[in-house]
Amino acid sequence: MEIFAIETGNFKLDGGAMFGVVPKVMWNKLYPADENNLCNWALRCMLVVEGERKILIDNGIGDKQDEKFLKNYYLNGSDTLKSSIANLGYSFDDITDVVLTHLHFDHCGGSIKYNEKMELIPAFSNATYHTSKQQWEWASNPNRREKASFLYENIAPIKESGQLNLFDSDTELFPGFVAKLFNGHTDGQVVPHIHINGRTIVYCADFFPSAAHLPMPYICGYDTRPLITLEERKQFFKEALDNDYILFFEHDIFHECCDLEDTEKGVRPKEFFTLRDFLIEDKV
Ligand SMILES: [Zn+2]
Repeated sequence: MEIFAIETGNFKLDGGAMFGVVPKVMWNKLYPADENNLCNWALRCMLVVEGERKILIDNGIGDKQDEKFLKNYYLNGSDTLKSSIANLGYSFDDITDVVLTHLHFDHCGGSIKYNEKMELIPAFSNATYHTSKQQWEWASNPNRREKASFLYENIAPIKESGQLNLFDSDTELFPGFVAKLFNGHTDGQVVPHIHINGRTIVYCADFFPSAAHLPMPYICGYDTRPLITLEERKQFFKEALDNDYILFFEHDIFHECCDLEDTEKGVRPKEFFTLRDFLIEDKV
């Protein structure tokens, strides 16, 4: 198995919204905001290559949204989904599976493109799209709080194409690739746990958007059930420390990965590194 980080550019979101009840004087030290209180966030996906299978986890905002939509998110950075996949020697047609952690637009927007007739179709024509049944149903009938994040155009074309696979509990989707479900951020968020050379790499998605979200109360204002997030974190930290998990961050512009240690203040990053350095150094 080989795994790669896939950078798809960055976008900006309000720092206060991203850190919930934590005061700015505290989160700003860990993740600085600009003069408009906006923080810059990565849109970092992952490609898992296992023999003939090319599994893409999440795919960023994509390039089909109009300017009116995008102007709120200040897209920046030179990487795109296409260029990052091409740099590894692959094209969209090579992707056999797309695992969507959840259906918020910044995680699944690259799933869909316009064809020549300006119809919306899956961007990965040969792929099966996987996500949880709970998340699919949740996004298909969105509540008012999350409605702005679930775009109809990101969801409907996948179903119409017949390329959708839904699962409803923790599942080994592929050998060494376990999809676990979490419910604090949104219903049935999929958090992939990938086993490689005796270690487990966790694709954190919005469970921990960044390393700055590791302290217990640093929970996104976007989470629909923050008390559930707290419980899920408690359970997860125990498991992560016991098994020396490596965390991979989708939105952290400063840090790609870290391992964890238990400190007097709680669980904190032990060491930061990139996925590439980690695999090259063969610390696994
Ligand atoms: Zn989200």
